[in-house]
Amino acid sequence: MTSLRTRERLLQRLMDQGVTNFRVLDVIRNTPRHLFLDEALSHRAYEDSSLPIGYGQTLSQPYIVARMTEILLAAAGGSLRRVLEVGTGSGYQTTVLAQLVEQVYSVERIKPLQDRARERLRQLGLHNVQLKHADGGFGWPEQGPFDGILSTAAPQFVPEELKQQLAPGGVLVIPVGGQTQQLHLVIREPDTDKFVTQVLEPVKFVPLLSGITR
Ligand code: SAH
Repeated sequence: MTSLRTRERLLQRLMDQGVTNFRVLDVIRNTPRHLFLDEALSHRAYEDSSLPIGYGQTLSQPYIVARMTEILLAAAGGSLRRVLEVGTGSGYQTTVLAQLVEQVYSVERIKPLQDRARERLRQLGLHNVQLKHADGGFGWPEQGPFDGILSTAAPQFVPEELKQQLAPGGVLVIPVGGQTQQLHLVIREPDTDKFVTQVLEPVKFVPLLSGITR
């Protein structure tokens, strides 16, 4: 069992790195990250590092989960009802989002990862999440448009399909690039319907791959 002190140390670290949104910090404090890892790794759950979840994929570093979530909330100006996540992975980021917005849709291309994530979400009693086994580069058109889209895998370029699934005023937070990546924020301006892009900070994510695996 992880001590409260270990979790508080993580929170302090996130604040030291500039995470300021108290709702986000509170949710991270209350989300049991160890449940999203294999038992052999769970003792490292409250370190601020990314950790393997199998199939060559990783659970993102808590700092970047917190940062992307606070960017999404701030850019959307508090009106986040429907949010799409690309790359369910362990379901940790999904769980964080589900505590902050009305309804989360999350797409994963690797079936066994999705199955495990589904089981964890069920155990945690989260009922405002829908999962889909699909190539999230195409978004989830049947459920769009979305007030927010957050991708936890990096494409070379921002997929047009994701932009098109933003509601007016909607925001997309996505890592972009290959060897070097930058976090991008794309906003669909409500008045002009133009897309405005800001390049925020260097990041390191697994690539957004096409197709699905069983
Ligand atoms: N949000 C996850 C991070 C997992 S890493 C978590 O908190 O654990 C990124 C995930 O994106 C991986 O599980 C990977 O399989 C998935 N992914 C990569 N390309 C994808 C695509 N085109 N569609 C859906 N998921 C994708």
